[in-house]
Amino acid sequence: MAHLLEMKNICKSFSGVSVLKNNHLELEAGEVHALLGENGAGKSTLIKILGGVYTKDSGQILVDGQEVEITGVESAKEHGIRIIHQELMLIPDMTISENIFIGQEPKTKAGTVDKKKMNEMAQGFLDSMHLDLKSTQFIRDLNIAQQQMVEIIRAISFGAKIIVMDEPTSSLTENEVDALFEAIKALKAKNVGIIYISHRMAELDAITDRITVMRDGEYIDTVVTKETTHDDLVALMVGRKLGDLYQKHENYSDDIILKVEKLASGKEVKNVDFELRRGEVLGFSGLVGSGRSETMECIFGLRHKDSGHIYIENKEVDIKNVKTAINAGIGLVPEDRKQSGIYPIQGIRFNATIEILDKFLKKGRYNSLQIKSQG
Ligand code: ADP
Ligand code: MG
Repeated sequence: MAHLLEMKNICKSFSGVSVLKNNHLELEAGEVHALLGENGAGKSTLIKILGGVYTKDSGQILVDGQEVEITGVESAKEHGIRIIHQELMLIPDMTISENIFIGQEPKTKAGTVDKKKMNEMAQGFLDSMHLDLKSTQFIRDLNIAQQQMVEIIRAISFGAKIIVMDEPTSSLTENEVDALFEAIKALKAKNVGIIYISHRMAELDAITDRITVMRDGEYIDTVVTKETTHDDLVALMVGRKLGDLYQKHENYSDDIILKVEKLASGKEVKNVDFELRRGEVLGFSGLVGSGRSETMECIFGLRHKDSGHIYIENKEVDIKNVKTAINAGIGLVPEDRKQSGIYPIQGIRFNATIEILDKFLKKGRYNSLQIKSQG
């Protein structure tokens, strides 16, 4: 029997740099097949070729045993292929329902867009995923996890036979992951084939049938999930034995550089206490909505603190705004980096120096030569 999907000897270079070297991927109907590999292994590139975002340099793609030429995103859809990309591709100023139906809006008899039907159908999809959202809400008012769910609904609601999910759970809460896994099981039962990209071993165990491992753009192996241990997978992924990995360096000192006491802000942040030592990486865990981002926003001066104390190197600082936070030596990489972390239409030089322009000021003028050398 022919495979639902077969990608054979796929090669791709970007400006002469080879990113995929003779890659293979096989998918059966009703299978959940994981694509696993370290950052930069080429997973997203491989599936962007399948989705018509990039064209391959050489190799073959077969759907149901027939060779197909995927010339673009529309052509991929015509072959029943849908991709949920790692970077969200929703339009902020349109509603959930408009985003779900973009390009395939239901029409009235008169040929106009049937908004009522569209909203009702979209609401049905949202409800079936147990999401507490209205189909008429704007994308810009949703958090990242909710947007991710809309992206997923958009891909799975229109009869695709091959669905690719590129790291879909990276910003989902446990409940949302459960809803996604239920949706995946329902798709499996309908004989849809799913390619699932994730680093999370527990997820691979829970939902995948087989796993294909890639490393540095090369195909390494395809294994059956049930017959493979986590250690085997890590060894395939990194090409080294496990003993060499995860060397723990405890190189933080006793020196406390940041101390937060009884920090409170609005409903989200209540009585937060912690200490950060020099050289330490301190993790904050909790569900979406538990106040992690809000706590950091307070410390970075993006959010007003109602009470509490912040000490840097044992001196209390009064962080009134972002400027005082930066002057005190604090940097923030925000959650939604595309939205609030960078100025996308500006170059790297601009982005890397905008927060520290003062350092390059000389008699009231910017020393752009110095900026260049630091960049
Ligand atoms: P993964 O998804 O496994 O993390 P990617 O497919 O995103 O890996 O990237 C594989 C390699 O290809 C990386 O080295 C990346 O920098 C490079 N790459 C990806 N897209 C492009 C592009 N559009 N132009 C140039 N290089 C790219
Ligand atoms: Mg990727």
